[in-house]
Formats: sequence, C-alpha cells, structure tokens
Amino acid sequence: MQIFTDKVAIITGASAGIGKATAIAFAQNGAKVVVADINQQDGEAVVNEITQAGGTAMFVPCDVTNDQQVMSLVDATLEAYGKLDIAFNNAGIEIEQSKLADGEESVFDKIMDVNVKGVWRCMKYQIPAMLKNGSGSIVNTASVAGLGAAPKMAIYSASKHAVIGLTKSAAVEYGKKGIRVNAVCPAVIDTEMFRRAAESDPRKAEFVAGMHPVGRIGKVEEIAEAVMYLCSSNSGFTTGIALPVDGGHTAV
Ligand code: NAP
Repeated sequence: MQIFTDKVAIITGASAGIGKATAIAFAQNGAKVVVADINQQDGEAVVNEITQAGGTAMFVPCDVTNDQQVMSLVDATLEAYGKLDIAFNNAGIEIEQSKLADGEESVFDKIMDVNVKGVWRCMKYQIPAMLKNGSGSIVNTASVAGLGAAPKMAIYSASKHAVIGLTKSAAVEYGKKGIRVNAVCPAVIDTEMFRRAAESDPRKAEFVAGMHPVGRIGKVEEIAEAVMYLCSSNSGFTTGIALPVDGGHTAV
C-alpha cells in the first residue's frame, strides 16, 4: 500500500520544474494525478512518463488566469476520478529583476494574476469539491521571497507574501471542515531556468549557491518531498504554515 493509494491530486504548473517532479512523485506513491498546465505538449509528456511507469494520470489544459478553465479543471477531475483529495497550486511566474521604481504596472498585474489570483481561483473551486469529501489537503507554492525581502523582485515578493496570506486565511476558515491548507517556500531550485542562467554565467551560479548555508541550490525532488509530507496524514496536525525548504537561507 502506497501512501497516496486511492487519492486524487491536482497539480498546476505540472508540465515542468517543481510541478512536474511533484506530479511524478505523487504518482509513484499511488495517487491519481491530474497534470494541469498551459503547456500541453510537455504536460502530455509528463502523463506519458507517469503511465509508462505504471501510474495513473491525465492532462487537463489549464491557464490559472482563466476562471472558466480552472472551474473546468476541477470538473474534469471529478468526472474522471470521482473526487478531489489533494491540490498543489504551484503554477507561477517570475519577472526580470528591476528596482521597484522601474517596475511596470502591466508586469505587476500579470504577476498578480498568475501568482495570486491563480492560487485564489484554484482554491475557490477546489475547496467546494473537498467539502463534499469532508477532507482535503492543499499546498500552495510561495517562496522564500514570500517570507522576507527580495531586492529587485519586489512585485514577485509581494505576490508570494499574498499567497501566504491566502493560505493562512483558508486554513483558518476550513480547518474544522477537515481541509488543511499550507504553503511551501522554496529558495533557489535547480530548474531549466536556473540551468540556462548557470551555463551563461558560472560565477553567478556559484554566488547563488553560496546564498544557501548548505552550499548548494535545491533539487525539484526536495520540494516534491515537502509537498507530499504536507499532503499526507503524517502532517495531520499541520495547517496554515509557510514551510521554508531553503537549505537554511531564511535562517541567516
Ligand atoms: P517552471 O519550471 O517555469 O514551471 C512552471 C510551469 O507552470 C511551466 O510549465 C509553465 O508553462 C506553467 N505556467 C506558467 N504560467 C501558467 C499559467 N498561467 N497557468 C498554468 N500554468 C502556467 O517553474 P518552477 O521553477 O518549477 O516554479 C514553480 C513554482 O515555484 C512557481 O510558483 C515559482 O514562483 C515557485 N518558485 C520557484 C523557485 C525556483 O527557484 N525555481 C523558487 C521559489 C519559488 P510555460 O513553461 O509554458 O510558461
């Protein structure tokens, strides 16, 4: 018996990076996984990888900035698998670094639409489905930038602080209904984006690694492990937290 046998999980931003690793990890541990993303081709490749390894998954195209598509994501999940137990609201975007006074309003709106309203929209439709079950566990992806200052990334930092606010409020509102809501706060994680930057400037990669007391950046699988812990019964008394998974970054 695997820890998520018979559990149904939605993961957004699951075509790449942290979301992809977490989708694969949940499937390896027995969950039926709904891979949701704007990138259909890569999302279907994730589903193939899961099913070829003997797991269960399906792809649902979903742009978290589109209310109708988020509603359809939950509907498609209920239609295919009958219920919703777990949601990892992970889709998010970063911005090019710039000082606050140089920021553009259009960038502010775009970041908030994906990172904040996207998470809010997902929970808005996931929570009623979980209430029908009488239980559920939600994890939202924030960031260490949601726990403190992120120089030259003020808008991104504000968006991730807001994710933590949504998380805590939802945890308090739905705690007695059996729904736990937590956030995970990664520091710098080894995704394609970071690899491209590291290839073009190895000194920058070394500097970024040194920002973490453990002396390296994180692996996507290390975030997946934290998310699975927060979604499992092993964390049954844990709700409303923003868990840093950061190699000691926020301890400094
Ligand atoms: P990633 O590798 O860029 O993957 C994100 C996935 O989300 C991509 O497949 C992307 O599609 C998709 N996506 C983008 N906009 C979307 C939308 N509106 N609706 C649905 N899907 C969308 O990113 P990641 O590094 O794994 O980051 C995942 C989350 O972790 C984000 O919330 C990010 O802010 C957070 N985070 C990351 C790090 C890090 O160091 N990587 C650190 C702290 C927090 P496209 O590729 O087609 O755009």
